[in-house]
Parts: sequence; C-alpha cells; structure tokens
Amino acid sequence: MKPAFDFDVNDLYFALSASVDEYIILTDCISGYSRVSKALRDEFDFEDEYIKDFPLKLARRIHHDDFATVKEAYRNVERGMADSYCAEYRVKNALGNWIWIREHSTIVRDGFGKILNVASAITNLGRRNNTDHTTGLLNKYEFESYVNLCIHQNLNIGIMIMNIDDFKNINNLYSRQFGDNVLRIAAQHIQNAVPTNAKVFRLDGDEFGIVFIDHLKSDIKQIYSNICNHFSTQREYQGKKYYCTFSAGCCKFNEQNNTFDILVKNSHTALDHAKAKGKSKIIFFEQKLSEHKTRELKLTELLRESIENDFRDFELFCQPQVFASNGKLKGGEALLRWRTDEFGPISPAEFIPILENTNMIVPVGKWVFERALTICKEWLKFCPDFMMSINVSYIQLYDENFLDFVKKTIKRIDIPTSHIIVEFTESCFVTDKDMLHSVFNSIRELGMKIAMDDFGTGYSSLEILKEVPADIVKIDKAFVRNIQSSKFDKTFIRFVVELCHDVDIQVCLEGVETCEELEIISQMGLDFIQGYYFGKPLDTTNFYETFFRNTVA
Ligand code: C2E
Ligand code: CA
Ligand code: CA
Repeated sequence: MKPAFDFDVNDLYFALSASVDEYIILTDCISGYSRVSKALRDEFDFEDEYIKDFPLKLARRIHHDDFATVKEAYRNVERGMADSYCAEYRVKNALGNWIWIREHSTIVRDGFGKILNVASAITNLGRRNNTDHTTGLLNKYEFESYVNLCIHQNLNIGIMIMNIDDFKNINNLYSRQFGDNVLRIAAQHIQNAVPTNAKVFRLDGDEFGIVFIDHLKSDIKQIYSNICNHFSTQREYQGKKYYCTFSAGCCKFNEQNNTFDILVKNSHTALDHAKAKGKSKIIFFEQKLSEHKTRELKLTELLRESIENDFRDFELFCQPQVFASNGKLKGGEALLRWRTDEFGPISPAEFIPILENTNMIVPVGKWVFERALTICKEWLKFCPDFMMSINVSYIQLYDENFLDFVKKTIKRIDIPTSHIIVEFTESCFVTDKDMLHSVFNSIRELGMKIAMDDFGTGYSSLEILKEVPADIVKIDKAFVRNIQSSKFDKTFIRFVVELCHDVDIQVCLEGVETCEELEIISQMGLDFIQGYYFGKPLDTTNFYETFFRNTVA
C-alpha cells in the first residue's frame, strides 16, 4: 500500500530547484508555457518565471556548430521511439559568453503518444571545454566570448589573427606530432611576448588569435616583431631543424568593424593579404583589402568555370631560351596565360597563387604538361634539339597521381623525354626532402631534366642546391635589374656560374632585357639566357612564325 504522502507540486518545484545545481524546466506543451527556475533566469536574463515558447527561445541561443547534435538527440523522441534524451551543447548566456550545458529531458505523453509535458534538468558545465589541449591556450570559443565581452564593455580593442607560414611543410617534413610540438613552442612564446592587457587564444589549425586592449597600431607592430624575431633563425627541436615565420592580419574595433564576425572576417582578409604579399608580414585591415578579396573570390569562381569548361580561357605561351655563347634558340619555357571576358588578361602572378591555394593547380598543371608536350613534339620537327621547360608547382608533387600521370602522358604523346625540363621553384625545395628526392629520382629515371627556378630569391638557395641538386639553375631576374650599378649582383652571378659548373650544373640567367645588360653578362660563362632581349613569351602561332617559319620540317 502506498504510504500517505502529501506534497504540494509548487512547493516541490521550489524545493527541488533551490536545492540542486541544475536548472529545472517544466514545459506544458499544450499551452506552450514553460516554468523555469531562478538560476536559469539569471544566467540567461529571462524576467518571468513562466515563459511562452521557451524551447524556441533557448534554441535561438544554440551555437550553430551544435545544432546538428541537438537535433540528433531529439530525433528519437520526435519519432515516438524514446521518452527521454540527453544532449551537450553550447548556448550564449546573458553576458554573450558561450557556455556548455548538458540537457536531460523526460517526456510525458498522452495515450496516443502526443507529447503533453517535458521535464528538463540542465547542468551548466560552464567553461569546462575552454582550453585547447595541444597548446594549453584558451580555445576559439573563448576567443569569441572574450571579444564579445570586450565589445559589450565598450573597450578599445584590436584583434590579430596570426598563423605559421607554410605550416604544412613542417607537418609534411616531419610528422603531425612534431607539428603539434612546434605549435606548443610557438604558443608559449607568443604568450610570453604579449603584455598583460592582451590575451592569446588558439584558433583552428595553426592559427592564433590575440585580443589587444588600448593598444596603438605601433604597439601591435612591435609585439608582432618581437614574436617574429624570436623565430627568425632556424630552430631545432628534438634534433630536427625547422623554420618558423608568422603572418598576421589585424583589425581594430570601430564604427564599421563593430561585431565579432566582422572583426574576424577582416583580420582574415588582412592575413590573406599578408600571405599573398610574400608572407612573414603583419597587415592592418583597410577597406581596399576587402575589394581585393572580393576580386580574388570572383577570379576563383571564374578559374573553376574555365577548368570545368575544358580549360576554356587558358592558353600556353612560350618564351625562347637561347645559348649564351651564340644567341641561337635552345628551347622555350611554357608559360600559362589566362583571360576572362570580364577582367581581360590576368597576370600569372595573380592567378597562379589562387590556383595553388585552391589545389586547382593540380588539374591545370596537368593540362599545361600535356599541352607543352604536344607543342614540343610538333616543334621538334623544325628544331630537333628543342628543349621544352615546364613549370611544376610544389602542390602538384603532393598529388599522388602526379608521376603516374607524367609517365602516361609521355607515353601517349610519344615524345623523347630528353627534350623535357621540369622547373621547380625554391618553395618546392623546402618541402619534404625524402619525398622530393624520390620524385626527382623518378623524373630523372624517366629521362627528363630538373631546373631550379628563381634561384637566389629564397632563404637558403645554396643549402637546398647541395641537398637536392638540379641539372640546371635559373638565376632570378632580380639579379639583372641593377646589374649595371650593383657589384653584388655581378659577383653573385659569376659565383653561381663557377660553383654550378664545378658540380656539372648548367646555369640559365633570366630577365635579360637590354643590350647593355647582355654586354655585361656575356663574359660570365653562362650556359643559357632567357629574357625579353631575345624574345617575350609568344603564343604558339607567333612563336612558330618567329622561329620556325623559314625552317623546313
Ligand atoms: P617564372 O617561372 O620565373 O617565369 C618567368 C617569368 O619571367 C615569366 O613571367 C616571363 O614572362 C618573365 N620574364 C622573362 N623574361 C623577362 C624579362 O626580360 N623581363 C621581365 N621583366 N620579365 C621577364 P610570367 O609569364 O608572368 O609568369 C610569372 C610566373 O608565373 C612564372 O615565373 C611562374 O612562376 C608562374 N607560371 C607561369 N606559368 C606557369 C605554369 O604553367 N605553371 C606554374 N606552376 N607556374 C607558372
Ligand atoms: Ca619558370
Ligand atoms: Ca624564374
């Protein structure tokens, strides 16, 4: 028999909600009202004890990344297959902070299965999930909460988003675990380098966020350079060497840049710009950068369209390369061109980085390779010694089908491989050395030659040359620009020629434009020259007209 038990439901509710840490919610699904405990009202700034459509109001505060989790948890209840559910998710509280909550709800149904009441207990997990495990820094949710709090308090803030340049190289060169250690070291150092009125957070991947309060632009620049100086030399961890440079984008809070989302978006735009301008830089957001970004997005879309339409709008030009000894044609470099109806011709300096950043360089690079081989095969009829140089981006090397594709294409087009030179830039040479050795060996085994492009512009050209030797070195055109006045540039070219010849590497000089420049370099023992003086890049028809028209095939 049931013992006598008299307890008023109201009293019970009060007693219960006052004595547990959970927020208690009772929902009457027929009237649509929920009764919510005081602690919950305080946390979320609700005035009344009885709230109409409370579940909907709570749902509006759920973090967009967590919606799917909540929906999934509720699914079986909705289908009538369960009478309770539990979900953990983030909601925004009255202060604008993301807090984690665990909701445990039980359903009461009528005889037909219709939901009459819901009783819920919500545990406030607070900021339990607030730190990033790799670096120990506060995580991206805390970053958002903190920025919102600062905005709420009308503080004069600026935010910086910084990341490690070419971090994937560090990961690829060693391992993910090693990459994590580099992140940990970087985090520690950044933390030490910022003053007390700035706060550091770990965002996604290799990205850090810093919130500055009451700092001038010049202060922020100084802090950024303190961070970079520390990493400016080659570093070593567990006997492994690595370079670490940082790029950063900043945006100060003001009338236009007045929400978390805008501040982050603009900082990213500035960061992208820093990367595009050669990395290892800090850039402050300005409106014109936004226009630049819009153009980039538009070009990305158009590039994708061109590729999907059978590489429409792409064309392969060719620039002559000549023997330095007599100026006679030795071959040519295949150079990609792209034009759109809307923007006209776009410089490769602008569209190649977009192709690389979006991996579209993989299909485009294949198209270039195939087209260059086809052209070369045709021109061998007029010039049996013709050498075709083809640029390959380091991104293409990460494509595991790359070598297979190269082999098949050579076979299909049926061309002697000794007429093909593959050009890599220095950025390529700092990637995974073992991988590079193996790819280079395969390229050589196939009978092609390897050229190291833009020599002299990177960090440690000589070191790279020693570790991963090339057959040809192409000295960058920057060394020709001031050759008439710069003793250094003259000496550099002479020195590279001598060094390379000692180890059987041939040398090509790029960017010779004038008769005076040619005069100066003519005694330097170079093997090949490529420059406007001997010819600009031409489309295939013009190249044929200029160099082969009078030759009998
Ligand atoms: P690069 O590989 O160093 O190509 C040589 C660049 O120098 C070409 O610029 C060429 O037009 C320019 N140049 C040659 N001689 C002279 C000269 O005497 N004076 C001056 N001022 N410039 C000269 P372009 O065609 O604008 O290409 C720029 C870069 O875009 C290339 O530099 C290369 O890195 C990249 N690129 C072009 N085509 C391809 C491609 O098919 N694949 C890949 N991955 N990159 C490509
Ligand atoms: Ca090149
Ligand atoms: Ca070059």
